Amino acid sequence: MREYIYERDGGCCKECGRFVFGRQAHIHHIVPISENPSLKLDPSNLILLCESCHKKVEEGSRKWEERPYFFC
Ligand SMILES: [Zn+2]
Repeated sequence: MREYIYERDGGCCKECGRFVFGRQAHIHHIVPISENPSLKLDPSNLILLCESCHKKVEEGSRKWEERPYFFC
C-alpha cells in the first residue's frame, strides 16, 4: 500500500511539492483512523507528504481539504 501511494503521487509531497524518498516519505491519513477505521486502507484517504509537512498536518495547523493539491 505504501508503495502504491508513493507511485500514485509521483514521489512528491502533496503539500509542498518537494520530492521525497525513503524515510522522508510519509503516508498521511486525510480522515484520521480514529474517526473512521474503515478508511485505513482506502487509497483516496491516503496522501504522500514529506516529514516536515506531515508534522504540520498532524499538528492541525492547516486543514487538508483547504489546501492546494500538487501534481508532480
Ligand atoms: Zn512537504
